[in-house]
Amino acid sequence: MPLSRRGPARRRPVRERPLVERGTAAHRKGGRRPPAIILRDVSKTYGLGEIQVRALRHVTVQIARGDFVAIMGSSGSGKSTLMNILGCLDLPTDGRYLIDGVDIRDLDEDDLADLRNRKIGFVFQSFNLVARTTALANVELPLAYAGVDRHTRRERARRALAAVGMVRRLHHQPSELSGGQQQRVAVARALVTNPTMILADEPTGNLDSRSTEEVLRIFASLNEEGRTVVLITHEPDVAAQAKRVITLGDGRVIEDRRTTGVHDRPPVLLRQKSAHDLYGGSPR
Ligand code: ADP
Ligand code: MG
Repeated sequence: MPLSRRGPARRRPVRERPLVERGTAAHRKGGRRPPAIILRDVSKTYGLGEIQVRALRHVTVQIARGDFVAIMGSSGSGKSTLMNILGCLDLPTDGRYLIDGVDIRDLDEDDLADLRNRKIGFVFQSFNLVARTTALANVELPLAYAGVDRHTRRERARRALAAVGMVRRLHHQPSELSGGQQQRVAVARALVTNPTMILADEPTGNLDSRSTEEVLRIFASLNEEGRTVVLITHEPDVAAQAKRVITLGDGRVIEDRRTTGVHDRPPVLLRQKSAHDLYGGSPR
């Protein structure tokens, strides 16, 4: 039965095929599938009055499934604008965006919301956890929106928190957690819906170096499971953990450099014995 995101009153018709397929192992092995992301000549201009800001200018980029990409660039270069477009939180002014081969111009608001909820996990610099609410309840939230029953919600949230090493902090509230722990809860919340793509905007911007390393290892593990990871950062050390680094300058791609193959292990995991040292296996 399809799960409504807004309660029975807004129940939508049954889809015969999923809007966006899930990234299962079988899918990953089989055949030709379109890239996770295709941006073609995408521009974004803010402000329609006299003062216009051209935040993105003719950006053309493809990102393969399973890639781990860092987007770099100085402040104001357009990184967050790009992330908002990739996450379907905002639309380009010009150009095309295809996500898993689906042109977002062909989707209505409900389809876009559906795609966001099912396919994309977001992580932000400021964690964006709900205050005075336990880690477990925070992670359950996206599942509650998706109409998942209480028992299943709890179980999946618990597993996602275990996957980020937070199983002993299930009932802590954000104010009772360090920055690094809060960000791990936020990562658990992003992955509890089992998205194929993780988008993170400066996720380590408020973290010390040890927490940064921990969060990067979790992203790397998620990537090794086949999820596409796009991570925005202005820190070269953080970008060095990605497989490919795209640099923006004044709304344009000014450099695009691959350091590691799409299907190779992420750099950070090569430095440790096993990917499972920190991250206890699949969240599924
Ligand atoms: P970054 O994340 O790289 O710092 P942003 O994508 O946030 O850059 O911003 C790119 C440019 O667009 C900046 O000049 C910024 O001031 C402008 N900008 C961002 N969001 C808006 C907005 N909502 N309205 C107007 N201008 C904006
Ligand atoms: Mg930004």
